[in-house]
Amino acid sequence: MEKLVFATNNYHKIDEIRHLLGSTCNICGLSDLNFAEDIPENQTTLEGNALEKARFVYRKFGLPCFADDTGLEIDALGGEPGVFSARYAGEEKNSLKNIEKVLTKMHVVDNRRARFRCVIALIADDKEYLFEGTVTGEILRSPVGDFGFGYDSIFKADGYEVSFAQMSLTEKSKISHRGKAIEKLTEFLRTEK
Ligand code: IMP
Repeated sequence: MEKLVFATNNYHKIDEIRHLLGSTCNICGLSDLNFAEDIPENQTTLEGNALEKARFVYRKFGLPCFADDTGLEIDALGGEPGVFSARYAGEEKNSLKNIEKVLTKMHVVDNRRARFRCVIALIADDKEYLFEGTVTGEILRSPVGDFGFGYDSIFKADGYEVSFAQMSLTEKSKISHRGKAIEKLTEFLRTEK
């Protein structure tokens, strides 16, 4: 596959996948196509949102493309914030407020089980494919660590003593939801395409 569009304007994500794919594919982001608008994300599941974004870009540019969507799913909150992870505490998408909302809701909750789940939807040759990566762990009682973004400072993966916000990006990517989903996508692209 000559050119593959990643339906995002997030340069960190594009760098991450370029690094993993090497020369297998030529990845470009939406800004490389001079497209800066928000892509619709109106579905009630991660799968639905990833597909909606990928279909939008595929229709618009007619190029093979993929999109991702991620959520933090907390057992004691019935899977919340889930698909609303970015805007859990409001449309301004403020991570500190999102964390505060989670910790307040879990103030007296003993069951801290949670997982990050990342879904990638790929469309190529009019066919759709889904790839999923998850990492299980627990919600800490207060934020720890300065690295990362989103809910990293309150998430500790199973088998680790530190939060995601205390890990380097290289360390985190080896075990993270997005790292695993990208690994499945890159494996598919290396072998099937
Ligand atoms: P997105 O679908 O990748 O934009 O992720 C949606 C939201 O989930 C983000 O705004 C973050 O709040 C949260 N999130 C996604 N990935 C991570 C992660 O690796 N660490 C912490 N929070 C994350």
